[in-house]
Amino acid sequence: MSAPLIELSDIRKSYGGVDTPTVEVLRGVSLSIHPGEFVAIVGASGSGKSTLMNILGCLDRPTSGHYRFAGKDVAELDSDELAWLRREAFGFVFQGYHLIPAGSAQENVEMPAIYAGIPAAERHTRATALLARLGLAGRTGNRPHQLSGGQQQRVSIARALMNGGHIILADEPTGALDSHSGAEVMALLDELASQGHVIILITHDREVAARAHRVIEIRDGLMLSDSADAQPPAENHPGLQAHDLRQRLDRGATLRGAWKGELLESLQAAWRVMWINRFRTALTLLGIVIGVASVVVMLAVGEGSKRQVMAQMAAFGSNILYLNGAPRTLGQPAGRITLDDVAAIGDLPQVKHIMPITGEKMMVRHGNNSQQFFVAGNNVWFPEIFNWPVVEGAFFTEADEASGAAVAVIGPKVREKMLDPQRDPLGQYLLIGNVPFQVIGILASKGSSSGDQDSDGRISIPYSSAAMRLFGNRDPDYVTIAAVDSSRVNETEQAIDHLLRQRHQGKHDYELTNDAALIQAEARTQNSLSLMLGAIAAISLLVGGIGVMNIMLMTVRERTREIGIRMATGARQRDILRQFLSEAVMLSMVGGVTGIVLALSVGAGLMLAGIPVAFALPSILGAFACAVATGVLFGFMPARKAARLDPVKALTSE
Ligand code: ADP
Ligand code: MG
Repeated sequence: MSAPLIELSDIRKSYGGVDTPTVEVLRGVSLSIHPGEFVAIVGASGSGKSTLMNILGCLDRPTSGHYRFAGKDVAELDSDELAWLRREAFGFVFQGYHLIPAGSAQENVEMPAIYAGIPAAERHTRATALLARLGLAGRTGNRPHQLSGGQQQRVSIARALMNGGHIILADEPTGALDSHSGAEVMALLDELASQGHVIILITHDREVAARAHRVIEIRDGLMLSDSADAQPPAENHPGLQAHDLRQRLDRGATLRGAWKGELLESLQAAWRVMWINRFRTALTLLGIVIGVASVVVMLAVGEGSKRQVMAQMAAFGSNILYLNGAPRTLGQPAGRITLDDVAAIGDLPQVKHIMPITGEKMMVRHGNNSQQFFVAGNNVWFPEIFNWPVVEGAFFTEADEASGAAVAVIGPKVREKMLDPQRDPLGQYLLIGNVPFQVIGILASKGSSSGDQDSDGRISIPYSSAAMRLFGNRDPDYVTIAAVDSSRVNETEQAIDHLLRQRHQGKHDYELTNDAALIQAEARTQNSLSLMLGAIAAISLLVGGIGVMNIMLMTVRERTREIGIRMATGARQRDILRQFLSEAVMLSMVGGVTGIVLALSVGAGLMLAGIPVAFALPSILGAFACAVATGVLFGFMPARKAARLDPVKALTSE
């Protein structure tokens, strides 16, 4: 006679303990089951049948006694080896079907094969073939709630057969079915038994039990009778022999599954669960979405304004100081900066160039054209101080300045508005307040680099000509000073201040500022704004992380039974851990991507509103990485909680 597959000796199981009274549910069960047997375990409700089946299927451990599977003591197997047994040796069929509600029939059937690391293509064909064989060819895409009880039970039989199902453990498989579906399921089990599967059928119905080749009766946790005692089973059983399974157990349990297929399945399952609960998910993800979006927008706005400031610095030069008389206040006349002051400052060693400016809006005419433009007298340092080159012709010279020549260098807007675009602008005359000035040069467009469109409508003439021909002798409106060293603008400012105090009898009746300081002050306020936004982002991410943890804890509680089903079909602890961790990561990844999309659209809106925004890939990737890290961090605890669930407790939970 062949070696037994299953040997139980004096198996006892009791519940309760510490604060509840101990109940002994199994009180010493000994039996052995050989390859090819079709056994029915029959007994009244509450007699301990399900308890026995859970022990047989390695979902539960006995309180005492020995269980040998293919000669190996099950008590010595670790959790991975037990998972291997559930996955490769057993196939469970439950009274309540125990299908995963979120998955289709096809996906439910494929699940044990995923944990066994079988490639997707093979999985699909095998599951499709099994479903077709069980008469469900047209129902592969249906979810459990779209199937009748009989159909669901057939799906669960297909699942039990997916990895071979050498030993089918069926606990009241017909209990919830109408008589017709019940008969179909029994016929199927008959057929499987004749093909060499070991069938262990648990039922309270003697009629159903009579279909088996061997009937074991239990009552109150004790075996009452075993038909095998009267009529020993046949010598040569078909089907897989104990030593084959033993060899495969010794080899297979340590093999790792195909992580790629499992990961893909985890992600698909995660996506499905998220989609089914999409409203709840969306609400929970707001924290992460806001966090990521504010990080990305904040960095983009910060970068945008930094770039604008740099462009301004480059456009105007960071070594430039401005000097003008203080405006009139109560009891104080307006301060004056004279040309003598200008000359004195120009002699300071820290000063590279100095340029007085005097100007106003004037009517400019050419032919029938007349329009107002800003006309300013300044000296030859204009292109250098303002970093504003001439693109056609030339700037006026020291000689023009000395002679008070009536020459003008015009901005591109003046040319466009006043002069015929077909003709060479150089050499033409503009009447400025009735005085003819000859155009000798065209300035580059400043508007495109600084955003200051008005500056392109400027007319620049020698200071001496402005004084002689247009405005008369008067103090400059303001004075522009270029320091020798742009890194020592403050020192230069102090020297000028010191000199002016002396010249103005100690009175501080002037204003001395520099671009660099203004721009730096602006940058500082922007920095503190960024810091505040950063804090908001960090808090949002934290709130988002707590949201992820909350939703994951909820999910684990809601899906405890699903976890039990996955374990019964052979998932290892790490499979469950990966499943729930990938759900958490998937959640936060979706939050991260949504946040980035939101940030980009907010950024586009800001750009349209004229606010400078510059998105940088590192900041986008960084924010996304933060979101994913949040998912891992806050998803780990719930995932571990799921992985550590006890299979039987999970399976029988509400
Ligand atoms: P059957 O499947 O034969 O109807 P069970 O094996 O499900 O019976 O249960 C046998 C007995 O064990 C019942 O009296 C039940 O109340 C008790 N029982 C089952 N599971 C537990 C448990 N987790 N804690 C306490 N008692 C339990
Ligand atoms: Mg039961």
